[in-house]
Amino acid sequence: MADKFDVIVIGAGPGGYVAAIRAAQMGLKTACVEKWISKEGKVVFGGTCLNVGCIPSKALLEASHKFVEAKHDFDDMGIQAGDVQVDVKKMIARKDKIVKNLTGGIAGLFKANGVTGIEGTGKVTGSQQVEVTDQNGKASTYEADSIIIAAGSVPVEIPPTPLTDDIIVDSAGALEFTETPKRLGVIGAGVIGLELGSVWSRLGAEVTVLEAMDSFLPMVDGAIAKETQKLLKKQGLDIKLGARVTGSEVKDGEVTVKYSDGDNDHEMTFDKLIVCVGRKPYTQGVVGDGVGVETDERGFIQVDDQCRTSVPSVYAIGDCVRGPMLAHKASEEGIMAADIIAGHKAEMNYDAIPSVIYTFPEVAWVGMTEQDAKAKGIEVKTGTFPFAASGRAMANNATEGQAKIIADAETDRVLGLHIVGQHAGEMIAQGVIALEFGSSAEDLALTCYAHPTMSEAVHEAALAVEGHAIHMANRKKKK
Ligand code: FAD
Ligand code: NAD
Repeated sequence: MADKFDVIVIGAGPGGYVAAIRAAQMGLKTACVEKWISKEGKVVFGGTCLNVGCIPSKALLEASHKFVEAKHDFDDMGIQAGDVQVDVKKMIARKDKIVKNLTGGIAGLFKANGVTGIEGTGKVTGSQQVEVTDQNGKASTYEADSIIIAAGSVPVEIPPTPLTDDIIVDSAGALEFTETPKRLGVIGAGVIGLELGSVWSRLGAEVTVLEAMDSFLPMVDGAIAKETQKLLKKQGLDIKLGARVTGSEVKDGEVTVKYSDGDNDHEMTFDKLIVCVGRKPYTQGVVGDGVGVETDERGFIQVDDQCRTSVPSVYAIGDCVRGPMLAHKASEEGIMAADIIAGHKAEMNYDAIPSVIYTFPEVAWVGMTEQDAKAKGIEVKTGTFPFAASGRAMANNATEGQAKIIADAETDRVLGLHIVGQHAGEMIAQGVIALEFGSSAEDLALTCYAHPTMSEAVHEAALAVEGHAIHMANRKKKK
């Protein structure tokens, strides 16, 4: 038997590494097991988020957006940038460097906080026992008073489009193209489809997005989703809704995709195809037989509101449990689980988890949509402010989009904030704080916002809830 720990965390993504650091900060002897192998063949920490998710995708989104600005928008501002060109390989190399810095940084944080990083594949073999098999197949067994499973998720694959080495790829493959495909197909108009579709469209690909559902971004407030769809279409993304992919054929370096729109069958040929139809929990083999940790029919580990599994000493967090698959949700759960294990009280407000789609402009939301509230029978009042009326947005050359506040008609309590606009991902924190503090729309309306900022749109939207926006004509005026 090897070392004994207070806590062993399986998985070092944003759920696991944050849980491990927090547990160590709480004075617990902590280890974190990770098996992710980098391009260089080394075990690295950081999980999906740092290696093939949030960070590398944002590195490419930012770089490709700067290219579009330099090529199309600078001229308007009186800047002549000349013949702007893209070096895709250099862009990818920059992304790889950022990933390497960050994953190496986690190893440094482990060291600074006294977390023992263990390389290998972890398996819960008892309620207080973890077996780790290293890259050479050598198994070691560790004991721990508590175990946190943070095994994450992997992309869903669909039978009509089996992945190939380099033509039909998942999101990770789409971060590695060495040149811009001329014709790019994307299956799924979800978060990944829109973000990675945008990256390659900005770099010159003709992008077609095939989405099975008839509605666009159904989790986003209707007005915001409608404007987003219009803006992305204007940028060149051809989003086909109600398109059910039925098959594909890879031949001569291209892929022909068959899909049906319900009435007719269609075919389209692409140089690359990204399959991004969702992710599924990565829990197979993480818990040994007979341990008693229960999973549901989709493979999610079953947990209560505080991430306890059916075995009292075992917790599970992040993408491998219910709730949105978001890095910040995983991290907050990691902190909560570590605090509870350390003997503290902790809970999370699952109603105040923000979401951001990092297109341009960004789409961000927290809390209820107007349609959610109506479905729940809650009477609401709303306030909307368009960035076209914002001085800062004009100065920024970013007048597209709007901010919308949904408030309870009776109590004025803020129920949701939904934004499409430049820096929406930064502005959404205001809505999160409003929800956390139970603030009213009037509280936001009475708050002093710095001028000129994009955030003033949230202030104006709050004022507009009562028909008192200053910088636009209010649709309805109340006394
Ligand atoms: P993961 O990050 O998946 O980490 C799990 C870790 O556990 C992995 O490193 C895995 O190797 C390890 N592991 C699994 N099983 C074992 C085992 N048996 N032994 C040892 N180690 C094991 N979310 C956002 O909030 N914002 C974004 O902008 C965003 N962008 C994204 C972009 C893309 C392209 C993708 C794919 C995802 C994105 N996400 C984003 C989602 C985000 O990456 C995940 O929600 C987040 O990484 C989940 O964290 P986690 O710790 O639960 O799991
Ligand atoms: P998603 O659930 O966001 O979108 C998948 C889309 O594919 C849906 O619209 C779905 O209707 C569609 N779809 C499913 N099967 C289909 C089929 N057979 N044919 C055509 N369309 C089909 O999933 P994703 O975009 O793969 O992202 C996975 C997860 O990663 C999400 O849960 C998301 O939260 C997370 N993520 C977050 C961010 C972010 O926070 N910015 C970025 C990327 C990924």
